[in-house]
Amino acid sequence: MTPDFKALDKIVNTIAVNLAATRRAIAEAAIAAGRDPAGVRLIAVSKFHDGAAVQAAMAAGQYCFGENRVQEAAEKFAALRTPELELHLIGPLQTNKAEAAVRLFDVIQTLDRAKLAAALAKAIQKTGRHPRLYVEINSGHEAQKAGIAPEALDDFLRLCRDAYALTVSGLMCIPPQTDDPAPHFRLLKDLADRHALPHISMGMSADFTQAIACGATEVRIGTAIFGARA
Ligand SMILES: *Cc1c(COP(=O)(O)O)cnc(C)c1O
Repeated sequence: MTPDFKALDKIVNTIAVNLAATRRAIAEAAIAAGRDPAGVRLIAVSKFHDGAAVQAAMAAGQYCFGENRVQEAAEKFAALRTPELELHLIGPLQTNKAEAAVRLFDVIQTLDRAKLAAALAKAIQKTGRHPRLYVEINSGHEAQKAGIAPEALDDFLRLCRDAYALTVSGLMCIPPQTDDPAPHFRLLKDLADRHALPHISMGMSADFTQAIACGATEVRIGTAIFGARA
């Protein structure tokens, strides 16, 4: 079958245009907040989008990606490994996939329970690989959502350090869909500062400018770059 070059061109173009607009909006939000735009990293969330979409983003200079599932990311990025690639796991991680995740990802943003801390510590020892680890905070205390409650973070960080010798270097949150996200972003920033954690992952397509105003150092943006997910 002859590839549909016209259709491919259109995808490549659309993603390049979306990326440029997103980068500009990130820079404007940073400057408006009196921050250095270089202090905000763009994670392009490529979940549910195929390798062609990722390649189009790479062609436009984007090498930092977020994925929700270990298996999907492993398949998609197997042929797309470049030295510049930085892969973030932003979805829930089962303990039986901890080793695969440690081998594949540069950053695991969803450390959310003691059992997973134990599994990650074991996988790190076994593989000799040390992905950056962020704790996911359930800032809205939502029953259906993963994450450590804000008031339990002190104890959880102590457990990670003392029981599992894990270095945590950041926090991430996904505010409740129906809330104004700003108070959740401010809470995450406050928690990160209190524990001297340099990485603050918050803000998605709909609310990243607010997240940047509140101190995000990483924004996770899918739809605004790749379009709606199937
Ligand atoms: C899907 C997802 C995103 C991206 O969301 P968009 O609204 O498409 O930008 C960001 N963070 C997490 C944790 C996600 O699951």
